[in-house]
Amino acid sequence: MIKLHDLEFEPFISEEEITKAIDTIAKRLNDEYTGRKPVFIGILNGSFMFASEVIKRFESDCEISFVKMGSYEGTKTTGEVKTLLGLGQELAGREVVLLEDIVDTGNTLVEVDRILTEAGVASYQVATLFFKPSAYKKDVPVQIIGMEIPNKFIVGYGLDYDGLGRNLTQVYKRKESKMTNLVLFGPPGAGKGTQAT
Ligand code: 5GP
Ligand code: MG
Ligand code: MG
Repeated sequence: MIKLHDLEFEPFISEEEITKAIDTIAKRLNDEYTGRKPVFIGILNGSFMFASEVIKRFESDCEISFVKMGSYEGTKTTGEVKTLLGLGQELAGREVVLLEDIVDTGNTLVEVDRILTEAGVASYQVATLFFKPSAYKKDVPVQIIGMEIPNKFIVGYGLDYDGLGRNLTQVYKRKESKMTNLVLFGPPGAGKGTQAT
């Protein structure tokens, strides 16, 4: 168990499982993009670890660039996606692979889709390390998924809670508050009515 700011987190996805998911993604990208000189675009901040591991495994010529998007405040999405750092590169006619740490509601992807379409890319695919299927509400296709996870708030491996936790090498999930200690029907004299311990 670890504590970041006011919240407690428990281990959820091990380094080993993360490595396995990235190996699978990288194999697929190597198979599909050999000789096509793709431009990988990492979506900062969360994707920096994932992006570097994918790039290290890519075996033919490629370029790497980043955009910085933001929508989260604390453990919740604000619904409004801001471009904090835009494309610094000509992408017209290029084959792009977006690298995301996690796709949640899809708001970020919709905004990046708009930016790439405007830039006139020849094609693009989305590769995300984590995907929350039950939270995803958009139509932008997510072709390459490392791991599907339940709709829980996670930290580690690039993902933060209010700035902390990005350096963790495994993934933690927010600890559920347990109501099991609630004594509803204690023995006579054990307490007055409902009692949380
Ligand atoms: P979306 O726009 O798809 O709702 O969310 C995308 C971004 O929100 C992700 O790239 C990530 O930065 C952040 N995000 C979504 N879910 C989580 C989560 O469970 N934990 C953390 N730390 N960030 C998340
Ligand atoms: Mg992200
Ligand atoms: Mg964040």
